[in-house]
Amino acid sequence: MVAPIDAKETLRKVKRLLDESNQIVEQIDSLKTEKNELRPLCGSLRRRSIRCGKDNCQCKRGRLHGPYHYFEPSKFRGKWQYVSKDDLESVERGIADWKKQLDIDERIKTLSERLDEIRREMTALIPQY
Ligand SMILES: [Zn+2]
Repeated sequence: MVAPIDAKETLRKVKRLLDESNQIVEQIDSLKTEKNELRPLCGSLRRRSIRCGKDNCQCKRGRLHGPYHYFEPSKFRGKWQYVSKDDLESVERGIADWKKQLDIDERIKTLSERLDEIRREMTALIPQY
């Protein structure tokens, strides 16, 4: 038999855990919304000066063309894609979004772990019949 004072204390604890879990669920929801608005590009930008290959060109004597920008996808290392000046800003934004996405995923993971913990704590608090 649980004494009334303990029951009150247990109730308070359960309420606190419920409040916290509701807050966490809200945080996860808003992080997911934030994540949906991202346009992530998974990779990195590289700068490179090149030789065009023409015989009579200055680059043959060491004055290379560029530097030009290339995008290197994380999944296909070495497959560099040329990025024009017009596209540079959006590629940079995409890479920034990708980093933001990684950060959001990490935060969601931490929050979900806390949710599991709360569920275990609540199960331990609520009497089993
Ligand atoms: Zn050249």
